[in-house]
Amino acid sequence: MYDYDLLVVGSANADLVIGVERRPDAGETVLGSDLVVHPGGKGANQAVAAARLGARTALLARVGDDAHGRLLLDSQRAAGVDTAGVLVGGAPTGVALITVDPSGDNSIVVSPGANGRLTPDDVRAAGSLLQAARVVSAQLEIPLETVGEVVRSLAPDSRLVLNPSPPRPLPDEVLAACDPLILNEHEAKVILGEAYAGEKPEDWARLLLAKGPRSVVVTLGGEGALVASSEGVSRIPAVKVRAVDTTGAGDSFTAALAWRLGLGESLSDAAAYAARVGAATATREGAQVSFPTAQEVAAL
Ligand code: ADP
Repeated sequence: MYDYDLLVVGSANADLVIGVERRPDAGETVLGSDLVVHPGGKGANQAVAAARLGARTALLARVGDDAHGRLLLDSQRAAGVDTAGVLVGGAPTGVALITVDPSGDNSIVVSPGANGRLTPDDVRAAGSLLQAARVVSAQLEIPLETVGEVVRSLAPDSRLVLNPSPPRPLPDEVLAACDPLILNEHEAKVILGEAYAGEKPEDWARLLLAKGPRSVVVTLGGEGALVASSEGVSRIPAVKVRAVDTTGAGDSFTAALAWRLGLGESLSDAAAYAARVGAATATREGAQVSFPTAQEVAAL
């Protein structure tokens, strides 16, 4: 009945990475390594992660009419994502300028570019795509009004998964649609604001649930995750792996969770599968290149 298991509405960025001995101070110039360009952005990452697992996936995003936009479209298509919903033009493709020093600490400047021009009108024009998706996943690297329009455009039986990253306070209408709201500790603190209290992730999960989402998932890195709904709060243990680079683990976890929920799994079962996907992602360097196939998840 649905053409897509998952529609991701979100950002697509070119990540421009330069290794440096020391990150520059104000007014200073430093020489760095050769430039490496990776496809990234939370929306693009989630779509690639879901498609690689075998989900029928589409992406609604905006890129520039430039080389970075073509790089992003190519990486989506190579993973098997339907890119009919990727709009081109209006501004340069979003870019993250990343300098990394030998200790692994980085400094990042993001230019949202075309991501900031994905408008509520674009969502309305993509109505047929939204109606064809069993699950819709969004993040906050696009305008909040655009996420609000996604909420209003959902098919009657479809489900919204929202990762509020980068975090900011959310309108009640958006919170009420989340099933689940999926976030890490830092994002939980910002969303809770003055309501933030308690030592334990279980406390934050209960407070977050009281703000209106139908369910909540808190990701805890190497500690696994926690799921909360009207049925209670429970822990999802991490899968033990030799972690090399956790970049993209949150994105692949979210994509896997959204896909499995659409297949009809319970929140706990879907989160347990997603924890295997996040763990597999952490065993390899990079973001999109580190996302596992379903066979690799099964072999973990
Ligand atoms: P984010 O990048 O959004 O902060 P996390 O780092 O919490 O997300 O990672 C998302 C999920 O990926 C975790 O909930 C966990 O299941 C899995 N994961 C991340 N890091 C590790 C790790 N070092 N070992 C095992 N699983 C991990």
